[in-house]
Amino acid sequence: MARCFDCPVMCGADRQNGEYGVCGAGESAFIARAARHYYEEPPISGTRGSGAVFFTGCNMRCVFCQNREISRDGGESPFAFRADADKLADIMLRLQDLGAHNVNLVTPTPHLRLILDAIPKARARGLTVPIVYNTNGYELTDSLRLLRGLVDIYLPDLKYVTPRLSLEYSGRADYFEYASEALAEMQRQVGVLTTDCEGIAERGLIVRHLVLPCAVDETRRVLDHIRAALPPETYISLMSQYTPIPGMKRPLDRRITKAEYDRAVTYAADLGFVNVFIQKRSSAESAFTPAFDGTVE
Ligand code: SF4
Repeated sequence: MARCFDCPVMCGADRQNGEYGVCGAGESAFIARAARHYYEEPPISGTRGSGAVFFTGCNMRCVFCQNREISRDGGESPFAFRADADKLADIMLRLQDLGAHNVNLVTPTPHLRLILDAIPKARARGLTVPIVYNTNGYELTDSLRLLRGLVDIYLPDLKYVTPRLSLEYSGRADYFEYASEALAEMQRQVGVLTTDCEGIAERGLIVRHLVLPCAVDETRRVLDHIRAALPPETYISLMSQYTPIPGMKRPLDRRITKAEYDRAVTYAADLGFVNVFIQKRSSAESAFTPAFDGTVE
């Protein structure tokens, strides 16, 4: 890789020669945590946990990001350790040995090249569990095509449809333009989610959407798009866990109400979606955000 154009930011950072991308990533990948995680959707977490690998850095700047201590700093983060492809393969195999149902790569795209290298190495050494690509959805189709045959389960967000909102809340007016194409490519690669006899995900797509305060209309637009663009059996995860960061301005200064979440869930049902994961509103707790302290289980 000379200059990096792996995501829609296309900042062209010369990461092998000391530059850092807009995502914060430099030459090396840094991992803030690699451990079993029990707060993903039931087919992902199962009973033994998802083997979550939290990378530092992110190509978006969501004002409400719960992982901001690692997403804003992809470089020499004090919360993280450096990993090359062999080290990442070691981690994948370790998580499998611990019983994790899968290897769940969280915010992986700034480290796409490392991941492309690490997965075959881990497979060659005996990794058999599915690879989950857990992304904000702001992806280039060309980059996703490189992952064909390597990723088993895509777990993308579809955060917004409206450019004004995606610009205001996440700094990217063109979010939907890219995320909608990305979802179509993911669907082409892995299709509707399939599970084993115990309900654990084997292959397929789950689209996540975080319901935001005062934004149920945007949730409706997101669901309308999924209904129009993807099969009706598509698995959707409607998340209620929005948690305001201290000091946030209205309307992001509060959790969503029960009425807002109920309207979102009802709309999904009215559209005919049959595979919808819903959350208890009490889910808006810190348990979803584990300690980012360089833990390797
Ligand atoms: S992945 Fe990072 S370095 Fe590469 S284009 Fe995107 S923001 Fe720039």
